[in-house]
Formats: sequence, structure tokens, C-alpha cells
Amino acid sequence: MTQKYFAFKALLQGTTWMSPAYVGIDSHGRIAEVLDVKPRKGFIEQVDGYAIPGFQNAHSHAFQYAMAGLAEIHSTQSTPDDFWSWREAMYALALSINPDQMEAIATQLYAEMIRHGYTHVAEFHYVHHSQNGKRYSNLAEMGERLVMAAKKAGIKITLVPMFYEKGGFGKEPVDGQRRFISKNADAYLELLAASEKATMQYQGAQLGFGYHSLRAVSQDSLKAVLPESKGRPIHIHIAEQLKEIDDCVAFYGKRPVEWLYEQVQVNDQWHLVHATHLADNEVKTIASSGAHVVICPSTEGNLGDGIFRLKEYQELNGRWSIGTDSHIGLDPKEELRILDYGQRLMSHKRNTFYSKSNGDSGLFGYAEALLSGKQAMSVKSVDSLTVGSFLDAVVIDVEHPLIATSSLERVLSTYIYSGDSSFNLGTLVNGEWKAKGNRHFDAFEIGSTFSKALRNLNLR
Ligand code: ZN
Repeated sequence: MTQKYFAFKALLQGTTWMSPAYVGIDSHGRIAEVLDVKPRKGFIEQVDGYAIPGFQNAHSHAFQYAMAGLAEIHSTQSTPDDFWSWREAMYALALSINPDQMEAIATQLYAEMIRHGYTHVAEFHYVHHSQNGKRYSNLAEMGERLVMAAKKAGIKITLVPMFYEKGGFGKEPVDGQRRFISKNADAYLELLAASEKATMQYQGAQLGFGYHSLRAVSQDSLKAVLPESKGRPIHIHIAEQLKEIDDCVAFYGKRPVEWLYEQVQVNDQWHLVHATHLADNEVKTIASSGAHVVICPSTEGNLGDGIFRLKEYQELNGRWSIGTDSHIGLDPKEELRILDYGQRLMSHKRNTFYSKSNGDSGLFGYAEALLSGKQAMSVKSVDSLTVGSFLDAVVIDVEHPLIATSSLERVLSTYIYSGDSSFNLGTLVNGEWKAKGNRHFDAFEIGSTFSKALRNLNLR
């Protein structure tokens, strides 16, 4: 039954705008009605904005937010600073944080995601154990803290506990990896079960399944646990670094994507994160299998990873979503822009971001990241802002001068290509405002707890 209505200036459903749009929600925040005329009775909240489905953040390591911006003091000598030297600093952080700090960092991060318009995050989680590498009495203690953080911030979460068994291809883990390790397939399945229990603490939480990377699991273990994925989205870091490709070729005699596809059936359940370095045949293999790629443009740029071959991939109708990974950037519009601009800079062309049926780059990028992103979250229905779905939306402020002067047909491109967070009127999750006026509702309390945790970590 409809409890209240939101009267939006316009509403995006699929790639079509409805204007005006009266969205009636039930007491759970599900959409009960969508009308283009004013309802005759019932409470109506007027909203001076265009509602679009909330962004999906398909790749996050929440704890890394604590070091955002800290790795930019570089040696002026010839010492290389690359992904691997950055990883040392990241390991030091991963070894030091306790559960309270994890929760405080993640809550601040998720509140910021909400402010920027994300309504769901996939947390690629691998800091499982205590500082000395021993299991917590609640095996999924850290995962549960991430779920609680999402609950406090009001974002939906898909907790993806990672199977991390090895230190590298054929190598035992090093001491710096002690918090990540499940020593065999059974240990991972135990962690998976405990993580599932943790997700029950919050209605907005779901469970995913995943391998940290091919270098982090043995061939046998990869296959042993796979049947337990049970239809959940499967996340894996696949080909981020050239060294990782070389190590895989040296160990297995194949490149990562080639090797993975020979071992298991990779289908649309799979989300291959950082498919940065692909050979021609690998681009085709992924696209034709229906698997998804997760691209994290601001982090990949920050780490100097390389540029994903998007143009060739989308010509084959390859599916992709975006994530903010280390959280050096948190604006979904910026992720889409960096992704597109990488292609433009390489091709010296401007029309790099489109499908055969859609030449509107803003709409194309937004819609693709949304559809593929939802599958990364394990959201079965890809319909958004239609009857039966939750009202999870970011609302674009119609009073911003660039938006006010855009026609409805062009507004999404204006928003994606020239917008920042000040273009957001607010973010709704389950029909409730979680941020408004570019501020999260609990910004003060969440920010104070975060600051205290960061001061104790003494990183800055
Ligand atoms: Zn990652």
C-alpha cells in the first residue's frame, strides 16, 4: 500500500525519462506506483530534482580509504614508485587496524559514497583475521563490522569475503599477508558461512563469493570451492599488473584470462576486476562468455596500472561496471569520465563511449555501469525505479544553472561530464533521504568517530 509520494520533476527508467513523475512507496521503501499525473490523495513530498537510479560501486577495499592521498610523496631519485611499493604501505595499514577502526573508516567511506550518489557497494574483503594472524572468535568479525558500517551509513552492501590462500603463484604467504589467509578450501568455506551470518545483521546486506586473485589461490582450491558459489556473483582481481601476467605465464604457461577460462566455466556470474592487460583473444573471450569486467579508473590511474581496452570490448558488447577500489576518488561521474578520457587520449577521437544503439556517452556509460553493477551486487532484477523495486536514487538538482538550462534529453550527459557532488540534491535509499544538500545526515557523528580512529592510527 502506498504510504507517501515523491513528486520528482523527472524520473529515469531504463533510458527513458518520465516528467513529471509521482513515485508512491510502501512502508518498506518499495515503489508501489509510478504516475505521470498528480495522485488524487495521499501525502506528496515535492522534490526539485531529476531522480535517477543510484550508482553501484562494484569494487571497494574500505580500509584503504584511511590512506587516500597519503601515497603521493615520491622519491625524486630514480627509485621506482609503482603498484608494488604502494602495496607495501597498504600492507602496513592492513596489519595495524583493529575492528573498531575498520568500522569507523568504512562508515565514513560509505557515508561519502552515499553523498556522491552510490546506493550499493560490493566490498571485496580480505582483512579477515586479527593483527597476529589468529582467527577472531567470530570468524567474520571484520566482515560484520563492514556490514554494520553500511547499516549506519545507510548504503546497501554486498559483502564479498575473499579466498586468499597463497603468497603468490606457487608461493606460501609472507608474514605481511597473515591477516588475509584461509589455509585451504575448507577454511574459506567456513569463512563464507560465517560471513553469510554477518550479512543477516542488516536487511540491506547480501553475500558474494570470490578469489582475491589467481596468484592467491591454488589450482585445486580454485576448483574445490567453486560449487559453493551457488549462483552468487564471483569477484576476482584478474590482470591488473604486467608483473602479475608475467608471473602467471611463468607458472602456468598461460596468461590469467586464458588460464582461468581453461580451468572453469566462466559465465555472467563472474566479475573480473581490473582486466587491465588483455591480449586480443582475451578481450573476445570475456565479451563472448557474458562475464563482466569491473574497472576502477581513478585507482588504476593513481597506481599507474594501465588502460583497459574498452573500445574493442564494447564493440563486442562486453559488459562492465565501475568501482572505487582504493577510494582515491569517490565521485562516480569522475570514474566514468576518466574511463572515457583514457580511450579518447589513446584514440585521438571523441566518440569512444557508446553502443551501436546509443550515441549519448553520458547515458551509455551511466546505464552500462548500472546494469552490470547490479549484477555484481547480486541484485536479481535489473529494473530500476519501477514498481516492485526499492526507491534507491540519486536526485540531480534542477536549480543548478547547467542543469536548469539543459534539455531533459541532454541532462544526463551534462551531469556526467560536467557535474560534481554539488549537482546532487540528495540520495534516497529505500525511499529515505540519506544525504541532502551535499551532506550525509549523520556526517558530524560519523566524521568525529572516523577522525578519532585515524588519529589513533597515526598515519598522517
Ligand atoms: Zn582491488
